[in-house]
Amino acid sequence: MTEHEQLRQGKPLVVAIDGPSGSGKSSVSKAVAQRLGLAFLDTGAMYRSVAWHCLNGRINLENAAAVEAAARTIKLEQSMVPETELFKVNGVNVTDAIREPGISAAVSAVATNLGARAELVRRQRALIAEHRHRIVVEGRDITTVVAPNAEARLILTASEEARLRRRGLQLGGTQSAEQLVEQVLARDAKDSTVVDFQRAADGVYTVDSSELNFEETVVAVIAVVRKAVNAGPAA
Ligand code: C5P
Repeated sequence: MTEHEQLRQGKPLVVAIDGPSGSGKSSVSKAVAQRLGLAFLDTGAMYRSVAWHCLNGRINLENAAAVEAAARTIKLEQSMVPETELFKVNGVNVTDAIREPGISAAVSAVATNLGARAELVRRQRALIAEHRHRIVVEGRDITTVVAPNAEARLILTASEEARLRRRGLQLGGTQSAEQLVEQVLARDAKDSTVVDFQRAADGVYTVDSSELNFEETVVAVIAVVRKAVNAGPAA
């Protein structure tokens, strides 16, 4: 499956991908990183890790100063190899725990904390630099805040119906329709209060995956990356 096309070989190639939950962002971004031979950073997992730490350590999520302090002080480790998913908080493996619905329900308290956001953005930029700017980074504010100068920036969208269906499948049919709406749409509504990830900023491409399967979406994203690289000032 790996094409390892080495686009812009030896030069920076940051691919910034934003989008709502259930758009297929995470798995598509991983496959794109794999095929282009790039590192991969899931920034949502960093917000989830801070939420996990607060819940686990009985830090009140309503206490903004305490949440910000947690974001600043915890040790976060993540695999940035697209083939391996691994996240650790202060040495504890939280790879599975951060995907639990309880974390999805709590994570907006971290995402709407501006101090915690500033700290996580700082850490994300440091990780991009550590990987010599050859990386796919996915999240909500990557095209606008974390890496506005990325060589390729795109928003991955999908209809509400497609997003609810995908998240439902991902959670193995364990959630009711109401729970899914709460987890997908209500979370997006809360997130939108601090980051605008639904509308493409200038120079940002949009890929709508509603009618595309996984493979078609990966191919469409790689085509956009190539187009952006050829069109951009960095080409
Ligand atoms: O992408 P994922 O669903 O794992 O993200 C979890 C949460 O982290 C989002 O709902 C959002 O609140 C927050 N987030 C963010 N900015 C990012 C990535 C994620 O606010 N760049």
